[in-house]
Amino acid sequence: MSAFEQNVQKRMASMPASIPSAGPVDPALIEDLVAASRILAQHGVLDAWGHVSMRHPKNPQRYLISRARAPALVTASDIMELDLDSNPVDGDDRRMFLERFIHGEAFKARPDVNAVVHSHSPTIIPFSVTEEPLRAVSSVASFLACGCPVFEIRDVGRTKRDIKTFEVRLRVDNRDRRLAVGMTAYVLLPLL
Ligand SMILES: [Zn+2]
Repeated sequence: MSAFEQNVQKRMASMPASIPSAGPVDPALIEDLVAASRILAQHGVLDAWGHVSMRHPKNPQRYLISRARAPALVTASDIMELDLDSNPVDGDDRRMFLERFIHGEAFKARPDVNAVVHSHSPTIIPFSVTEEPLRAVSSVASFLACGCPVFEIRDVGRTKRDIKTFEVRLRVDNRDRRLAVGMTAYVLLPLL
């Protein structure tokens, strides 16, 4: 068995056997999440690998996100329910986004956050890898007035695996309380 297969088996063994669903969600809310995904894709905010999620309306320990699928193609039937460790409920075994941990850890760290968008905006990425801060330069950007924190991947690890493994990055980040309550709604991550 290869090291990769061993790692997969180890991870599967550590997953809970079955996580119960928090219950059905109003179809109108699911449609809103689907619309958000498609609108963000239509406007170029999300590319083929971006995603949007929302906290479950009945249980703050769950969130809703599409299965691994391009955001422009998402339909209501693609929406999955995950716990905040980003495990699927009810044994749902559809393929999920590797980057889903960004969403789960953000919901975990910020109880006041009810939706998360992860994008690869080319206009924003430079601010995640340089010393230049992202600044508000118009009134409609006033939400940036208090600054935008940048997650420093080099504080966590420098290997390719470190950089690719969002789970490690964000779990470590949470332990350090860098996504603590009170930070802005935006966190810049180096492009992966
Ligand atoms: Zn990404």
